[in-house]
Amino acid sequence: MSIATHYVYLFGTPAPPPRLDKNLLGGKGKGLAEMAAIGLPVPPGFVISTEACQDFRAHGNHLPAGLQEEVFEGLKIVGETLKASFGSDSHPLLVSVRSGARVSMPGMMDTILDLGLNDRSVEAFAKLMHNERLAYDSFRRFIMMYAEIVQGVSRKYFEQAFHVLKMQEGVEEDTLLSIEGLKQACQIFKTLFQDHTGHPFPQDPYKQLFDAIAAVFKSWDGERAILYRQLNHIPDEWGTAVIVQSMVFGNRNENSATGVAFTRDPATGDAQLYGEFLLNAQGEEVVAGIRTPHPLNCHQKEISHHALPSLEELMPETYRQLDEIVHRLEKHYRDMQDIEFTIDDGRLFMLQTRSGKRTGFAAVRMAIEMLHEGLIDEKEALQRVQPDQLTQLLAPIFDSVAKKAAQKDFAAIGLNAGPGAASGQAAFSSQKAVEWQKQGIRSILVREEANPDDFPGMVAADGILTTRGGSTSHAAVVARGMGKPCIVGCSDLICNETAKTLSLQGKVLKEGDALSIDGTTGEVFFAELPTSPSEILQVLVTQTKKPEESRLYQNYQILMDLADKYRTLEVRTNADNPQDSLVARAFGAQGIGLCRTEHMFIDPKRLHDVRLMFFSTSEEDRKTAIDRLLIHQKNDFIAMFKTMAGLPVTIRLLDPPLHEFLPHNEEEMLALARSLHVGPAKIREIRASFVEQNPMLGLRGCRLGMLYPDLTRMQTRAIIEAAFAVEEEGYDVHPEIMVPLISSENELIQQKGLIDATAEAIFAEKGGMRIHYQIGTMIELPRAALTADAIAREAEFFSFGTNDLTQTTYGISRDDSAKFVPFYVKGVPDPQHPGETLHLYPEDPFQILDHDGVGLLMKLALEKGRKTRPDLLCGICGEHGGEPSSIMFCHDLGLDYVSCSPYRVPIARLAAAIATL
Ligand code: ADP
Ligand code: MG
Ligand code: MG
Repeated sequence: MSIATHYVYLFGTPAPPPRLDKNLLGGKGKGLAEMAAIGLPVPPGFVISTEACQDFRAHGNHLPAGLQEEVFEGLKIVGETLKASFGSDSHPLLVSVRSGARVSMPGMMDTILDLGLNDRSVEAFAKLMHNERLAYDSFRRFIMMYAEIVQGVSRKYFEQAFHVLKMQEGVEEDTLLSIEGLKQACQIFKTLFQDHTGHPFPQDPYKQLFDAIAAVFKSWDGERAILYRQLNHIPDEWGTAVIVQSMVFGNRNENSATGVAFTRDPATGDAQLYGEFLLNAQGEEVVAGIRTPHPLNCHQKEISHHALPSLEELMPETYRQLDEIVHRLEKHYRDMQDIEFTIDDGRLFMLQTRSGKRTGFAAVRMAIEMLHEGLIDEKEALQRVQPDQLTQLLAPIFDSVAKKAAQKDFAAIGLNAGPGAASGQAAFSSQKAVEWQKQGIRSILVREEANPDDFPGMVAADGILTTRGGSTSHAAVVARGMGKPCIVGCSDLICNETAKTLSLQGKVLKEGDALSIDGTTGEVFFAELPTSPSEILQVLVTQTKKPEESRLYQNYQILMDLADKYRTLEVRTNADNPQDSLVARAFGAQGIGLCRTEHMFIDPKRLHDVRLMFFSTSEEDRKTAIDRLLIHQKNDFIAMFKTMAGLPVTIRLLDPPLHEFLPHNEEEMLALARSLHVGPAKIREIRASFVEQNPMLGLRGCRLGMLYPDLTRMQTRAIIEAAFAVEEEGYDVHPEIMVPLISSENELIQQKGLIDATAEAIFAEKGGMRIHYQIGTMIELPRAALTADAIAREAEFFSFGTNDLTQTTYGISRDDSAKFVPFYVKGVPDPQHPGETLHLYPEDPFQILDHDGVGLLMKLALEKGRKTRPDLLCGICGEHGGEPSSIMFCHDLGLDYVSCSPYRVPIARLAAAIATL
């Protein structure tokens, strides 16, 4: 006999508490069960596990067998705990039906409150509570939420009807509508329900409940949820848990409230209780941003320009209790918590706790401060910052000088919900922001209040501005999660979403006009503002700020030192000019992993010389061209060696896509003809001979050096002579000469011959003085990886060029991949598992290193290479070298270093440290 699957797990009741398993109970369910278990006031309820959701999805969206009975049993126990009964006409138990996946997906899934009410129980409930207002206020909310979430009827019909009722009574606040008005609202809502669905509002509480549970399961496959999962790499299979929980009522009276709190400021990391609440309101109203909420305490009131009285002032006793609980929770979880609470006629209830989403700024500050407080250890501190979050700390800011100059364009100040500076065109709809992003236009999404439907626009925009809502609103939470600059509740501005204008005493901003927001301070400007480097760059690079003047820099530095203490991978940079090298060094780069010499030829004058070399018909012309290039190259390398003194510099021999170097127009061809004293027809003829069907797979990399050995000789000479010049000035140089696109060891034997002979000739010229240099190769073709043992006989180092290796392993040209790779990642309906998505590729392999294919080739090459040459130095210089998950893979593989663009160096340092933990 098989044991029936167990789906329902009770919390806050006399029944034994469940095992605290996030995968089973979901994050929210686990949090509730855990808070109940440590004795915090949590309304009793139960969790329907994620397994039920998985079974629901596997069985064509039908609730699994046996679930109903378990739910009946759960409701019975919860009812007994509260002396109420679900479905009863006289003592109705009202519940919320909530969703909760393993990781929180704010605003992505839907919640129904006050479920269990119908025409009979609403009267009983009113009598029982001695509060008719509460009963009908809850009922009208319930009808609307049920209609929206279970039946997909837009809530705007209900909101409009409600608005009309308020106008009829001449009141502005929801809470001021009369009881008669609320009763009328319920009637009208039921009629609306029938009009839109074709059937009456369901009176049977059990039907309400099971339909709601199914709707939450279905919302896992809703558009918003799918987009969020894609962005955050959350597997579709996880599914969501459902929580059925007895209601408490923040809308009972003026001694009741609902709110959200963070144990520390999620935007800045400031170690102060931070949050918002609304009096006489229910759940989602605070986060939806419909009414502007009150701050929790006086500290917050001061720093965030709040005018409304705080909880600390209004209900000092409850505030103290909340403060105490919140501290306990932070100690218990040893992390910043994001909590939801409700005050029901003065009694405090906890409704949710989870580790709070935070900006990169807050993440770094909290990690360092919690480390110093002894709450967490070093390893944990490192793991508290996602490497990519560091980009926020390095992003440009609006400085005070630029802002002063723009004083006339200053518009208003709102709540600084997500730090950072952003400028762009004002977009008044999510669609507009998405459309503009596709055209490469930067935008600021402007909304009265952002709701979950605006999510795609928030992803597309550079910043977000809302005129209503608080710092815990949906917009703020989502923006912080993405690290986007965000200002909310900017109530001095009037946003007209239909006319698409934002106005303030005579000034009107229209869609498409320039707008700037400083999410760090909350300032809004009706203009495009210039930016300046982040504080960290001001300390490290421009040196316009002293370390002691910037807390941000100090915390960053502590974190980086910690990362360096733990990591074993070295971090180098990809740079081909002294400025980039300087920045990278300031960020802690331990050398150059890739200097692309073709980038040194892009300058039009030099380009002409490169062309002369390829187009010359006489030896002499070619030699003149090459000699001129030599002078340029040598000077380039001198500058590079100086900025990277003491550190290795890997110089890759010329690897141009040849077609990019050919003359592109008549004018350029004539110039060439003149210099070479030949007719334009000759130039056209030569040009035609260079045109390739498939330049990506054509005459490039070492193949060029094979056909034009003078190129290799010239570059070697430039490198060695530059090294001598710099050494003579007292600098320490470590050149590594890298041959690109090797497919056979013979190519390397040939190139190495040229390099060594050239170097020896220079050494002889220098009367026997030598420079120590190394010769190695890129591994960027599958054949190179497969024959790495032979190649390693010649190469002193390998550098994995994973851009090309990915191209050639997949047979996808990176330049053409945008046409279909996004489609591959999005996926198609899975023919083997109806209802599921088959992702043709899990990720874009040009962004995230493909472990199974490309990674396997790397592993093989590494093993074979080190077998031949145990001390073979191995690194990666493809774009993946700056991508955290790929860096972790490289660590596990046993590479010596990763090399990435200068601004990704700090990210790579942190990722490399986390990889060791
Ligand atoms: P989300 O994940 O979108 O935050 P929640 O399930 O947490 O959704 O619920 C939305 C709102 O409803 C929250 O503010 C929450 O505190 C409130 N809420 C949920 N369940 C109850 C309940 N049993 N009693 C009172 N308020 C509730
Ligand atoms: Mg919640
Ligand atoms: Mg390459």
